[in-house]
Amino acid sequence: MSDQHSSLDHLLVAFEVTDPLRARLRRVLSALPGEVQRDFTEDPRFCIRPLSRKKSCETLLALPAPDGTGSRCVVLKKRLASCSQAFGFYVIAHELAHAYLRNGPWQQFADPEEAADALAASWGFDKPASWF
Ligand SMILES: [Zn+2]
Repeated sequence: MSDQHSSLDHLLVAFEVTDPLRARLRRVLSALPGEVQRDFTEDPRFCIRPLSRKKSCETLLALPAPDGTGSRCVVLKKRLASCSQAFGFYVIAHELAHAYLRNGPWQQFADPEEAADALAASWGFDKPASWF
């Protein structure tokens, strides 16, 4: 287990130790199934990094090329650290779900947004009824 935890910490290297967003991200990562954690920690192209320029709770996701090459990087806005905790967790989990699914479908959900929401909910991070 300690190996897996240090692997998760490796995913957090782009965040300052004192960054509250790092703590929220770590909490979400820790809640993910082991196979999902391994998919992230064992892919050298996968990364998570903060973006502080924009002032909204939206996030950006750089997608890999169709042939599987290119970056697989989740970019999280700083505002996610100051949003309500439920909303912050939800958005982080939603973006990680996109990354895990390669922005594709999941189970009966053909739409990538619905798929990411459903997978995030299966991890325990439902879309909050009220965002703030
Ligand atoms: Zn989305």
